Order: sequence, then C-alpha cells, then structure tokens
Amino acid sequence: MCQYIGIFYEECNHVRFKLHNFCLDLFHELQRINNPEERETHALPFDPDTPGCEPYALFDENGLPETRDAPGTGNVLWWVINLSEVCPGCEVVRVG
Ligand SMILES: [Zn+2]
Ligand SMILES: [Zn+2]
Repeated sequence: MCQYIGIFYEECNHVRFKLHNFCLDLFHELQRINNPEERETHALPFDPDTPGCEPYALFDENGLPETRDAPGTGNVLWWVINLSEVCPGCEVVRVG
C-alpha cells in the first residue's frame, strides 16, 4: 500500500497528507497508460481500485494523530507538526 507523510496543523487540528511512496499496485496501474492495447480497451482515467492506498490514520480523543508505530494504525510514515504553513483548510497562519 502507498505511504504518506502527515502534516498536522496545530491551530485547527486539520491534517493533510503528502504521498511519500506509491506501491507496486499503483505503479502497475499507472504503467497501463503506456500500453496501447490498454488505452484502446479501457477508458481513462484508470481506477487503481486500491482503497488501501488512500491515506488513513488514527486519531486520539483530542483529535491528535496517533503516532504509534503499530500495524493497523494507518499508512502515514511520520507526522510533521506544521509551524509556518498556511492551513489550506482554513487559511490560518501560525503567528509567533
Ligand atoms: Zn498503493
Ligand atoms: Zn485548518
């Protein structure tokens, strides 16, 4: 499955995911676009149909990401606590 880096916006508890690594399933799916036969018989865009590749993570009761490195806690490799970026969800910039 694909792996992500999570970005956590402390002011508003919003999160954002950056794709870090895509898996072979997705890679092979993307490669189909280079195959003329596939292009002819299937409509674009391809649907990788790999729901496990969507970013997912667990959050505790305070809305903070669980950083436990246990199976089943998500496909986020690590979390970055945002200190400077504008949150794209609510456009809040951290001050100070
Ligand atoms: Zn994947
Ligand atoms: Zn926000």
